[in-house]
Amino acid sequence: MLQVLVIGGGIGGLAAAVGLRRAGHRVTVLERSTSIGEVGAGVGMASNATSALEFLGVRSQLEPAANAVEAWLRRRWKDGSVIGSVPLGAVASERYSSPFWTVHRGDLQAVLHQAATALNGAGEPVRVRLQSKVATLDTAETCVELEGGEKLAADLIVGADGIRSIARQEIAGGDEPVYSGNAAYRVQVPREALLQTESLRSFAEIPTMQTWMGPGAHVVLMPVKGGSVLNMTVCVTEPQSSDPSWSGSSSAEDLLANLQGWDARMELLVRSGGAVNRWDLFDREPLSRWVAGRTCLLGDAAHPMLPYLGQGAAQALEDAVALSQGLIAADPGSVAEQLQRYEELRLPRASEVQNGSRANRELFHYQDGPAQVIRDADLAARSPILAGFDWLWGGGPSQLKSLTETRGAI
Ligand code: FAD
Repeated sequence: MLQVLVIGGGIGGLAAAVGLRRAGHRVTVLERSTSIGEVGAGVGMASNATSALEFLGVRSQLEPAANAVEAWLRRRWKDGSVIGSVPLGAVASERYSSPFWTVHRGDLQAVLHQAATALNGAGEPVRVRLQSKVATLDTAETCVELEGGEKLAADLIVGADGIRSIARQEIAGGDEPVYSGNAAYRVQVPREALLQTESLRSFAEIPTMQTWMGPGAHVVLMPVKGGSVLNMTVCVTEPQSSDPSWSGSSSAEDLLANLQGWDARMELLVRSGGAVNRWDLFDREPLSRWVAGRTCLLGDAAHPMLPYLGQGAAQALEDAVALSQGLIAADPGSVAEQLQRYEELRLPRASEVQNGSRANRELFHYQDGPAQVIRDADLAARSPILAGFDWLWGGGPSQLKSLTETRGAI
């Protein structure tokens, strides 16, 4: 049994904790926040993500809060006309042997937290230590020091401390997060409000994920919380703010200033929702290493990505499965070698997804004109065919499946 420290109790850290517990290890999660709370917004759980959840044994627990979306509509900013409809629902479930869901980040985090700490179930319950901010990581000694001076050593340390990771600094060094030039606004619209307004009713009736593309901005709509809320995320082109948090407060007016000339339903949605939050979107370069000795990176700490392929959480879940699977029955002497295999398996794929996310920003934000016309014709032609998504939504699961076949299930 390995003694494991996981830095960060976000989606990646908790998923790793669940997997490593199931792989037979004693895990402590060090989280700087005072609680594991309801923070964040809607996140897409494409089939590769739900497949990873199944490997971790938690998919059924998330199902009541998840939304099985039937299609992904790409729409035009001005009038909502549908450019293309990607079939999801039963078609995606069958093709990738796992459903395509949308969920609230808080619900996903709560399910992972519960599975990690539950007294019953396989392995030892994970200890989650809140208000435990890691100040330094020593990769040579495989130990950390918390703010306040406490020192903790382990057989394995997983740095899952998000985009501003201190573990990344120690393991890979290098760059700082760079403001991408884009910010994201979030509004949550209750289902009742949609049903009460004639022109918004269709958003409540058929569960779809939607991307409305316009000049310099795009809007993503998805049902969350079992369909009781429509999550609206609006990515815009504007200067960086002074608030680095995920939950900076903003206003309907600031958001709507970015949606001038858009379909009138956008304003209705914004005005029907509650608080408007805003956060800056940062980007970092793909890394050439994720591992040093018996320490490794996972999730955003390893591969922060812009949200334009909807894969931040999904890639963290894939990491967690691959890491745990490789460490089944590992002893301290074999950790370093297994971490090298984890890096070999995961780094190329996650980097590809990082780069793909960047490329999509340009595509979603074209001004109307020749490039947009070509894009729309291309999306219209390709949308009905899922094959173009196989590398993304099917690629991770087949990699993880082959790992299970060689090493057994966690
Ligand atoms: P994160 O989810 O960022 O988790 C990192 C965790 O590490 C955090 O809990 C953080 O408090 C903790 N941490 C950081 N430094 C230290 C330290 N030194 N010591 C101890 N703990 C530390 N993505 C979206 O697409 N939409 C959203 O609405 C959205 N909201 C988010 C809200 C919050 C509060 C956070 C933290 C992230 C959000 N994300 C959102 C990002 C998304 O969750 C991640 O891209 C993805 O899930 C990968 O997760 P991660 O665990 O690698 O990183």
